[in-house]
Amino acid sequence: MKSLIILGSTGSIGTQALEVCRRDGYRVTALAAGRNTELLEKQAREFKPAVVAVFNENAARELAIKLKDTDIKVLSGVEGVCAAAQGEGEIVLNSIVGIAGLRPTLAAIEAGKTIALANKETLVTGGELVNKAAREKGVKILPVDSEHSAIFQSLQGTPEKSLKKILLTASGGPFYGKKRADLENVTVKEALNHPNWSMGAKITIDSATLMNKGLEVIEAVHLFGVTASQIEVLVHRQSIVHSGVELSDGAVIAQLGTPDMRLPIQYALTYPERSDFAFEHLSLSDIGTLTFEKPDLDTFRCLGLCIEAINRGGLAPTAVNGANEEAVRLFLEGKIKFLQIADLVEKALVNVNNKREFTLEDILEADKAARAISLKV
Ligand code: NDP
Repeated sequence: MKSLIILGSTGSIGTQALEVCRRDGYRVTALAAGRNTELLEKQAREFKPAVVAVFNENAARELAIKLKDTDIKVLSGVEGVCAAAQGEGEIVLNSIVGIAGLRPTLAAIEAGKTIALANKETLVTGGELVNKAAREKGVKILPVDSEHSAIFQSLQGTPEKSLKKILLTASGGPFYGKKRADLENVTVKEALNHPNWSMGAKITIDSATLMNKGLEVIEAVHLFGVTASQIEVLVHRQSIVHSGVELSDGAVIAQLGTPDMRLPIQYALTYPERSDFAFEHLSLSDIGTLTFEKPDLDTFRCLGLCIEAINRGGLAPTAVNGANEEAVRLFLEGKIKFLQIADLVEKALVNVNNKREFTLEDILEADKAARAISLKV
């Protein structure tokens, strides 16, 4: 039985990962989250991990009291989350949201764990450091993001050098077909109304701005060793083709399925094996039509800004990510308008103090600087 550490266990991916564990009988050795002690307590009592880590110190104290009658050790802060990532367990599934996932990923790699990575911000901000550390430790990074899992699945059995192009699909989000003028006054509720996927709030807003697709372009560059120019983004409204690849001989291979994150989660856990999928299977005759279009980069500026950031390299992707994280928070709190998210991302890109060679401290510094720009608004 494989043993599993789940970081971000209270979120959308974390709870779906626990569903997979419940069904397939993985042993959960540690859980971690930000502050949701109510759900963490329930999860801890059900899965009986040795360790639970809570980023928020007060919430950690609260959870320690709640779990006093158990043997479960409660850790706190980012150090606690990193310690949980290094504890007993073969695979670390990182489904923390935001750059907060970067240090725990690095900690897990340092401890030689296999990484099942949902936290795309890890690679967006720390791709170079993470890949170097993983290479040195001989650690596998298995993508959980559905598009990257699809690309990874499409590449199984393919010689590395034959990858010519990545076809990265995008649902288009709730504002597909709209122009900038239509988006001037959209509400938080409208932006959170994703047509195909049920996800955490931050990634749902990122899907509405197409920032999510931009972050995924950067993620794909780091995961698959391609340049941004080798990635074609295709708006595919049905979210059935989860992404694919074009090979040197012109063959196009893609992975299809229902829009259900439990499949890429399960594949990362069973890889290289496959196990039965207990949920809805795809019926192509029910779907009927699959469509593909170019994205509207004038309306959804975040996608182009991310491509520019990865082309510039260095700390530019960290800057766009940091500005976006803060801008999305401000939008969700009703403090800025939807279109201002892209304005702030652009401002951070223009102002980044870029470096070719950088450390983790430089990344955290660049993140802070980019957030400060968003907060000045
Ligand atoms: P959610 O907002 O639903 O969950 C985020 C999780 O991270 C929660 O468990 C939260 O804990 C935890 N968390 C937040 N801050 C910290 C912190 N500082 N330290 C430790 N834990 C923290 O997000 P999603 O599950 O939607 O997304 C998670 C990641 O997966 C993101 O990077 C996203 O881009 C990626 N992803 C998500 C998909 C989806 O379908 N949801 C699809 C593909 C990728 P708490 O609840 O206590 O605040």
